[in-house]
Amino acid sequence: MKKIVTMAVLFALLMLCLCACGDDEEDDIHKYEKVGKYDDDDKNPPTAGPEDLVTPGVTGTPTPTFAPKQYVIVLDPGHGGKDPGAGYDGRVEAKLNLQLANMIRDYLTTNYSNVTVILTREENVELDPDKGTDLRARVGVGVTNHADIVVSLHLNASNNHKQHGSMVCISKQKNITDQSKKLADCILKRLENLGLTNNGTLKRDSLDTFDDDGVPVDYYAICRHGAANNLISIIVESCFIDSDEDAVHLKSEEALLEMAEAEAKGIMEFLTKYYTHGEG
Ligand SMILES: [Zn+2]
Repeated sequence: MKKIVTMAVLFALLMLCLCACGDDEEDDIHKYEKVGKYDDDDKNPPTAGPEDLVTPGVTGTPTPTFAPKQYVIVLDPGHGGKDPGAGYDGRVEAKLNLQLANMIRDYLTTNYSNVTVILTREENVELDPDKGTDLRARVGVGVTNHADIVVSLHLNASNNHKQHGSMVCISKQKNITDQSKKLADCILKRLENLGLTNNGTLKRDSLDTFDDDGVPVDYYAICRHGAANNLISIIVESCFIDSDEDAVHLKSEEALLEMAEAEAKGIMEFLTKYYTHGEG
């Protein structure tokens, strides 16, 4: 009796194997009820892998697994090369922007497995000697790499050296303005928690460039080129480089790390909670 059962089990296993490896027959492994939510832009069910080669009812219905959404983040350390940006009391904006960008990248890639972070420049260089071409090229890094967002990092300065706090410039163009505002607010709130004054978001009209309806486009090239490419592209002025009040946030490595962490967390809060622009 025991021998018959053993033979029957072996026969069943042989048949299972033949079914699973069948060539001309319709493939059974694609018949099971697939569960889970597909990305809108990927409506085709995933192809079953070797681990899915089991028969429903024998070892249970396999459940397809989904990788977490991957994000491409472009960080743009403002200025560089012959353009140092703002400066005060030995502090140079282009250099601090690059330091901050590196710290944000390190924080993101250390703490999140589903991010690709690209810097528009890794050294003290400009992307092009012509300012207009340079700014276009920075957004171009985001376009070429199919980025979800471009965050251009800057430090502010004022004529009387009395202004202080954080501010974010966003696009006024309706295809990206709402999402840009969300991203800006996520970052600004975190900076505010560090004690920086939240000066809010700023949209500014171009004085000489208009759309087909005669409405001025964005003044800031980073925002303007972003909008033209349907890419969320913002300018973060983390604080004022020439403010005695804000200086504490720039004077030490620890303080810069604190700001980088705040901005990295703000970026991820936006992408995981509010980002809808790249879907549908
Ligand atoms: Zn700047």
